[in-house]
Amino acid sequence: MIRERAYPVDPWHIRETRLDLDLLAQSESVFALANGHIGIRGNLDEGEPHGLPGTYLNSFYELRPLPYAEAGYGFPESGQTMVNVTNAKLMRLLVDDEPFDVRYGELRSHERVLDLRAGTLERTVEWVSPSGQAIRVRSVRMVSFTQRSVVAFLYEVEPLDGPSRLILQSELVANEQLPPMSKDPRVAAVLDHPLQAEEMLEQRTGGLLVHRTKASDLRMAAAMEHLVETPGKHAVTTEGHPDWLRTTVACKLEPGQKLRVVKLAAYGWSSHRSLPAVRDQVGAALASARLDGWEGLVEAQREYLDAFWDHSDVKVEGDPEVQQAVRFGLFHTLQAGARAEQRPIGSKGLSGPGYDGHTFWDAETFVLPALTYTQPSAAADVLRWRHSTLDLARERAQTLGLQGAAFPWRTIRGQECSAYWPAGTAGFHIGADIADAVRRYVQATGDYDFEREIGLELLVETARLWRSLGHHDRHGRFHIDGVTGPDEYTAVVDDNIYTNLLAQQNMLTAADAAKRHPDLARKLGVDEEETASWRDAAASVHIPFDKELGVHQQSEGFTRLQEWDFENTPPEAYPLLLNYPYFDLYRKQVVKQADLVMAMYIRGDAFTPEEKARNFAYYDARTVRDSSLSACVQAVMAAEVGHLELAHDYLGEAALMDLHDLHQNSRDGLHIASLAGTWISLVAGLGGMRDFNGQLSFAPRLPSRINNLEFSLLWRGLRLRVNVTAEDVTYSLRNGGGSARLVLQHHGKDVEVTQVKPVTVPIPPAHPVGPAPTQPAGRAPVRRMTS
Ligand code: BGC
Repeated sequence: MIRERAYPVDPWHIRETRLDLDLLAQSESVFALANGHIGIRGNLDEGEPHGLPGTYLNSFYELRPLPYAEAGYGFPESGQTMVNVTNAKLMRLLVDDEPFDVRYGELRSHERVLDLRAGTLERTVEWVSPSGQAIRVRSVRMVSFTQRSVVAFLYEVEPLDGPSRLILQSELVANEQLPPMSKDPRVAAVLDHPLQAEEMLEQRTGGLLVHRTKASDLRMAAAMEHLVETPGKHAVTTEGHPDWLRTTVACKLEPGQKLRVVKLAAYGWSSHRSLPAVRDQVGAALASARLDGWEGLVEAQREYLDAFWDHSDVKVEGDPEVQQAVRFGLFHTLQAGARAEQRPIGSKGLSGPGYDGHTFWDAETFVLPALTYTQPSAAADVLRWRHSTLDLARERAQTLGLQGAAFPWRTIRGQECSAYWPAGTAGFHIGADIADAVRRYVQATGDYDFEREIGLELLVETARLWRSLGHHDRHGRFHIDGVTGPDEYTAVVDDNIYTNLLAQQNMLTAADAAKRHPDLARKLGVDEEETASWRDAAASVHIPFDKELGVHQQSEGFTRLQEWDFENTPPEAYPLLLNYPYFDLYRKQVVKQADLVMAMYIRGDAFTPEEKARNFAYYDARTVRDSSLSACVQAVMAAEVGHLELAHDYLGEAALMDLHDLHQNSRDGLHIASLAGTWISLVAGLGGMRDFNGQLSFAPRLPSRINNLEFSLLWRGLRLRVNVTAEDVTYSLRNGGGSARLVLQHHGKDVEVTQVKPVTVPIPPAHPVGPAPTQPAGRAPVRRMTS
């Protein structure tokens, strides 16, 4: 676990002031750079030591057989694993005749700084070689947001005490050896030599390597080029091999003199394009990078991020740790999705190999809410990608004997890749999550062209799935049986409330959209009878309730299951999935992650305030948060039911998930859902933002330690800023001109905001609330009040 304060609190930087080799793998994730297209882990320039070397390209994967001891009908046969591709980060240095390696000699100082406004990772090192030569190395790297195929590095080295002979070897390396796989099912399969060499080209200052995968038949090219500056005599040469390419710069320097190398690298990949086409594509990307040069790339990166922060920043006064963490979270959310451009967003973004690089509902339900209101085009692109996989989802539904589209629980390319059906195939709610993301996006942007081109078909095909998966009983009630909701410790259940309520919304949204676009709906084969059957099913969806306890049942019969013995579950037995059999988890009242509580947030319009308070207390006492997707949602509902200090605690947990390595697996990649979830905790939690039925509403209230919260949202092209203090809230519009007006709800009352006139309204006194809910023994979140 990353010890508290491994990174000192700073509003705009993540600073590591000393190198701790035991934390190398975690820091490689924290310092990962990406643009949604390319991702590089924060590996040291010289490659060794490392935790997990990693360079990833969105949707570049290899297939591998999924082995089953007892296979069944409809089990996916083949899995997809993100490939660790050709590494362009390597810059090895020989100082006189000793390799620069932090494990040897004396490391006088070592600092790495991730600058959230510059979008760069900077490293400064002072090192004395075993034979006594002192040097200073400064390196800066970036993955360009503005040129999506480009990665750039600046490497500077200077001798400090006496003359030195320096040899810098800058490389491209394919098929790096990876550390062996652990037993944790959440980590990735390790592929042995996934890349087959196709072409190598060496020039004096760089070159390129082209490879392809064996089974998935994808082709990639990586190219590099160097701009060298140094006083006096120096030599630059490049030599190549099918799996590596090395540009060597040799020079002699006096103290005060510096070797400065800019390395520009470019990646391209395709499933269709020919070798010459992919080769030319990276050549062109490199030429474009060269045109801007290092300074130009850095400047453009800064401008891109200035614009992003201007409309996405969240300011939190009173809890500087959360302030830093929410910006860290937003930065990584942007890195995961900014330029994904019709490719998926993986649960780890492109920061590590965890979960094989797969995308899950994490993208639609956790990442997209943040992107929809800050970077809507990125949200639309993810849904466009989903739409591009519709044929595969239709095929899957057919295999399962269902109608419409069954989207995969986890995938890279669109095919189901889960080998464990109770938490894979049965996780049908993914379809409704996609539909909910479509609804949210169209509502927030008013982009009806998108609804016509992409949205309607997604809504229709997912609605069809629900209609065929569910059934009306003899009393006319509509049930969806044998599914798994978000809580993966309660699987294959009847009438999971989350699934039922989201399916209900899915069918109604589809029917409404079909009415808006009758011509298109007809083309999709939708007639009045079909929409009437969706409305009918939606109107009679069964919602299980335990009258005796006065709480909803997460699924039929949940509240009569045996209680889990939390008192006798030792702290080291968490996460339970690694220490108890699923059969035991499934038959008891133990909740992995917010499920009914999630339903109360997303479908808050389906519950009364009293029901929410009682349900929250009941389920909080049984939720162990073994998934990083839980704390942010618990923060939202804790705030809504009036437990603001608890909301703050959960917010802290979501925010610090990776900076403090709370789940002890940040080494495999960042928890992007929790990082984006930090935004959700602040905006939907403390800000009380909801968007039910197209009505934007807020119910802000702050916990005692946070004295000011400010965030911005895009709503139908208008940029709304919300500034919350303990007493009042100011709503202002930042664009739209004199005629722009927005009517929103503040604690249930209409408020009109124009660009001319910001509105300040008081926060009404809170209703008295009962004692704060308790959590399972040992599972309470860390208190923010005392931290
Ligand atoms: C959670 C899922 C989540 C997946 C990927 C699992 O542990 O239970 O809800 O989608 O991780 O983050």
